[in-house]
Amino acid sequence: MENGLDGNIQFLNGVGPKRAALLKSELGIETLGQLIRFYPFRYMDRSRIQPIASISSDLAYVQIRARVLKVDENPRKKLSVIVEDDTGRIELVFFKGIRWNKARLVPGMTFVFFGKPQEFGGRFNIVHPEIDPVQENSALQSGLTGVYPSTEKLRNGGITGKVMCRMQEAALAECLPQIRETLPDYVMRDNALCPLNYALRNIHFPKDDYALQKAVYRLKFEELFYLQLSLLKQKYIRTGAERGIPMPRVGQDFHACFNSLPYQLTGAQQRVVKEIRSDLVSGHQMNRLLQGDVGSGKTMVAVLSCLIATGNGFQACIMAPTEVLARQHYANMLKYLAPTSVRTVLLTGSTPAKERREIDRSLRDGSIGIIVGTHALIEDSVQFRNLGLAVIDEQHRFGVDQRSKLWSKGAADSSGKVIPPHVLVMTATPIPRTLAMTLYGDLDVSVLDELPPGRKPVQTILISEHRKPAMYDFIRREIAAGRQAFIVYPMIFENEKIDISNLELGYEEVAKEFPLPDYRLSIVHGQQDNETKEKNMSAFVAGRTNILVSTTVIEVGVDVPNASVMVIECAERFGLSQLHQLRGRVGRGAEKSYCVLVKGPKVSKEGLQRLELMTRTDDGFEIAEEDMKMRGPGDLEGTQQSGLPVTLSIASLARDGRILAEARAYALKVLDADPTLSEGRNAILLKELRSGKYNIKDYSTIS
Ligand code: ADP
Ligand code: MG
Repeated sequence: MENGLDGNIQFLNGVGPKRAALLKSELGIETLGQLIRFYPFRYMDRSRIQPIASISSDLAYVQIRARVLKVDENPRKKLSVIVEDDTGRIELVFFKGIRWNKARLVPGMTFVFFGKPQEFGGRFNIVHPEIDPVQENSALQSGLTGVYPSTEKLRNGGITGKVMCRMQEAALAECLPQIRETLPDYVMRDNALCPLNYALRNIHFPKDDYALQKAVYRLKFEELFYLQLSLLKQKYIRTGAERGIPMPRVGQDFHACFNSLPYQLTGAQQRVVKEIRSDLVSGHQMNRLLQGDVGSGKTMVAVLSCLIATGNGFQACIMAPTEVLARQHYANMLKYLAPTSVRTVLLTGSTPAKERREIDRSLRDGSIGIIVGTHALIEDSVQFRNLGLAVIDEQHRFGVDQRSKLWSKGAADSSGKVIPPHVLVMTATPIPRTLAMTLYGDLDVSVLDELPPGRKPVQTILISEHRKPAMYDFIRREIAAGRQAFIVYPMIFENEKIDISNLELGYEEVAKEFPLPDYRLSIVHGQQDNETKEKNMSAFVAGRTNILVSTTVIEVGVDVPNASVMVIECAERFGLSQLHQLRGRVGRGAEKSYCVLVKGPKVSKEGLQRLELMTRTDDGFEIAEEDMKMRGPGDLEGTQQSGLPVTLSIASLARDGRILAEARAYALKVLDADPTLSEGRNAILLKELRSGKYNIKDYSTIS
């Protein structure tokens, strides 16, 4: 057993119970194994001595070699030390360890100081620098030194960068001899990876740049490789098992609907329908993610898929994230399904009890072919006779658990065993490839990469609040030309009261700018009851009002081809993908459409960059990629709720796309040769997968 790795850090040289407790509470580190897997996030070239005169605010950390000039203890418990080198002077500041530092920092003596310079009143100082005596050839003053993530509590508790390095040194000395390789030889050879031992040593104490690169690559590759291996293995198991409901026919319903479509399917829609169709006849369960930008025509694909199910004698359901959207889907369905004989119903939280009982009954006896609804669909009371296909129009709003509930609603086979329905997840949030490979590593992905003809690019303009009068003038001109406008306010989930007051203030302003009787406004927000919401929305859709003032409830909703302006207030408070969705609400009919992003007065530099990106591109995938790079994948809209399926310790989905692709391709190769990983040379792989390190939150079994 790897006693060394499981050993408690408390017994490591220089740690002790107090620091051990701190490491546990701040970093979750309890064992030596965990400690050596806690990596530097960047490296300092400590062989470099920075001349004091050249210190600038873009240097995160500096190392200076300077003579103590003057030491001042001021009554407010602060020690100020002025040091100088040949180029200038800088102040070092201590709030702790005052006595100790005062005794040590004797004027005239020279030390090497290391720390983060801060600008303060036009001058730089360094708070709590690390202090080393000058030693030629000291290990800590030459070569690359790891900088570890830290917290104030850690530093105050004496766990400085230097102490962390020493702890790592001691931990490695104890652990490295016992560490066993976690990749098979052939995998390391094929991918030119260095051994684990070497990687761990050099990730903490790089011999040189080259060694560091090798170490980083090995550890990232390993992490991403196991992640993909685990996802893909589940996919192999799933597609290998004959447990999907076979749907051999296209069926009457499909043809009846298809033949009466008012338009031709786009090439992309045709391709995706074919992909879905071949899944449905395969006898394997379909698990497909359909990505398509706003307006790419996902609904039609969903409708045709449902009709294949009903044409084969099975029921289908479409689950939408909001009631408004469920209603709109339902209204569309009724239109498309008019030429068929499929009975379609709507079920939401506000369906009256009596109607609901009837629906429950008809679902069980099979007289309902398609049911459209919200979360209400996954309640236990909803039982199907034979659910064959579940479509989830998710916008990422369904949690993992909720989706898994759909599985249990499948049809039972002759032996009474439940066969899970085919699943089609639709999303308008374009998911960057690297993230899709991880989040949905075991899903098949279809992309609607073509918009129906007739859509026109939307011109996006970014303005400050003081330019709103000009914007209102512009909207008045558009309205005079017969167009309509959306004005959207951010929704603040944590505090719905603020949300409303924002909207109400906004509404008052808009109402003043667009007074009756010349203008008519609709207002829609999340706190209205459905009837009011519906009534106000449909007044706008029907063209009886000129402006719809709302919170983001319209994001996934209405289709108003006559609207030519989309104003988004406090645009910086929206995610990029959300902005992209909102923008997609215009440009559907009018000659030329506009999206006006109004930035608040306190927008940050990054916030501004994100908004500027919106004005440069309308490619949803590009926006999503950029969003991920700027914010990191954990923050990518929508993923906060479902969460990343695993926590990565070194690789980054945003930055390590290339390694991820390599690791994935290689994982596929390994599984192609040995799908169950039962060959002797793959024993390590199985063992690692089962170790729990790469546990994936049940993603594969849910969608
Ligand atoms: P999505 O759900 O992908 O955002 P929708 O399914 O709501 O998009 O479609 C957007 C609009 O495009 C709808 O008004 C729909 O009727 C229309 N549409 C869909 N497919 C086509 C097509 N092939 N040709 C023309 N219009 C289409
Ligand atoms: Mg849609």
